[in-house]
Parts: sequence; C-alpha cells; structure tokens
Amino acid sequence: MQREFAPVVGNTGAVDQPAQAISVVHVVFMVAVHAGAVAAFAWFTWTNLAVMLALYAVTGLGITVGYHRLLSHRSFRTSRTVRNVIATAGSVAMQGGPLRWAADHRTHHFHSDSEGDPHDIERGFFFAHMGWLFYLFPDEYDERRILHHTRDLARDPYLRLLDRYHYVPGLAVGALLLLAGGLPLFLWGFCARLVLLYHSTWLVNSAAHKWGYRTFPEASGTNNWVVALLAFGEGWHNNHHAWPSSARQGLGAWELDVSWGVIKLLRKLGLADEVAHVRLDPRDPAHSVLQRA
Ligand SMILES: [Zn+2]
Ligand SMILES: [Zn+2]
Repeated sequence: MQREFAPVVGNTGAVDQPAQAISVVHVVFMVAVHAGAVAAFAWFTWTNLAVMLALYAVTGLGITVGYHRLLSHRSFRTSRTVRNVIATAGSVAMQGGPLRWAADHRTHHFHSDSEGDPHDIERGFFFAHMGWLFYLFPDEYDERRILHHTRDLARDPYLRLLDRYHYVPGLAVGALLLLAGGLPLFLWGFCARLVLLYHSTWLVNSAAHKWGYRTFPEASGTNNWVVALLAFGEGWHNNHHAWPSSARQGLGAWELDVSWGVIKLLRKLGLADEVAHVRLDPRDPAHSVLQRA
C-alpha cells in the first residue's frame, strides 16, 4: 500500500499523559439526553420526525464532512467562510469543539487499536463506543494537548472561539426548538436527534473497528455497511484508515458514501477544491492511488 501518499495530518502523540478523571457533567448530560429521547416516543408526529431527520442530516454532515474530512484530515479545501459555516453545523451535533474533536481523532489515527488511542477497541466495545468520552484530562494539560495536535486549525480565530464555546450553537438550536414547538419538538429535534447521531458516530469507533471486511488488510478499522448507512459513509473505515487524507471513503462501486457526494456537490458549486480522493485498483487494492483535483 502506498501509504506515503496518504499522510495523517497533525503531530505525533504526546508522552507522559496525566491521569484522567470521570466527568460528572458528561455523565449527567448523556443520561438526560437519552431519557429525553425515550420520552419523545410519547409525542410522535410525522412533523417531529421530519424535523429530527432534517437536523440529523445537517448536523451529521457537519461532523462527517466538516469536523472529520475537512478539519481533521484537510482532505479538501474551502474558503474560510464555507469552512466556518460547516464547522458551526458540526458543533450543533454537540460532540465538543472542532479543535478537541480533531485532536482526539488525529491521535486515534496515530495510535489506532493500541495504547495512546483515545478510544482503543482493545479496551472493549463499550469503552470504544462511548465509555472513553467520560474520561477527561486536567484542563491545563488538555489545552496543551489539543493545541499540540491542531496548530493548523488554531490559527483561525473563529475556530478557536467555536471550540471554546462549542455548546452555544447546539443549545441555541435546542432553545429555538423549544420556542417553536414546545417540549415535544425539543425532545425530537434535540434529544432523539442527538442520541441517534451519537450512536451512529460512536459505531465508527466501536463496530467499524470490530466487525466487517478489510479491503486493506495492513490498515486498521473495518468496512461496515450498516455504519456507513447510518453515518453518511463513515463506515468504510478500513478504507479510511488506509487513506486518511482521502475525501472519498466509499471506494467500491457499491460502497455508498453520502459525505463524498456532498463534497463532490460542493466542488461542482465552486465551494471546494483540491479534493483528495483515492482511485481504487479493484484487482490489487495495494496499487490504488491518491489524486488531488
Ligand atoms: Zn478508526
Ligand atoms: Zn479520520
């Protein structure tokens, strides 16, 4: 495999990590939002479901296209305005700020499936899926750690601001839902949407490191079509670990990758360029090549 064409962006992991402590705030928030998602079923309407799915798409793509493929891997280029709009959509998914997300994710690529991987699958399915999110480093170390991995992104003052106040856009959308449709719309558009999106995202770290096939046996991760459908193409995770800087992750003709479709649309509209993508050699995947166009 020609790994030299697919470098991971960022610095290598720091050593001498301090101990992590469980965040009570994160535990309470997660329990509350899951309880809200269960309660939502008492107020099912087609409108509530449609609002939930529309927000799921916008904020989910904010994560997959924005936080992941654009910011963490710089697999394509946009104007600063377009980048910040997509990053803000990602922040509404309530998965933390863009710098923290990118720092954790870049660390995952450097140390996947081994010590140093923030959601190491070797520590069990639950830990990789969601358990890891409850463990935090001390604030001062965490700031240094995040900056260490995201110096390129931290040059943008808007991304730094969004990272610091990452919860504001998401809570603002929650407040708007409450004002527009009362508790039922809030439970659907905020709680149920977040729970569905959380587990879809988390399955990339758990299921797509455990179950599925490997087009590139030397790389970690697995290709899992259920995760790919739920997470807009992020389930082609073995392809992604082999070619992290490719904006395209679904490489086979049958590997549906909605996020790649969105990136192609952005390019067609003149909103993205320098798009990196792998051209798969189906007879010998090891001879696939990465192109930028
Ligand atoms: Zn992975
Ligand atoms: Zn990645």
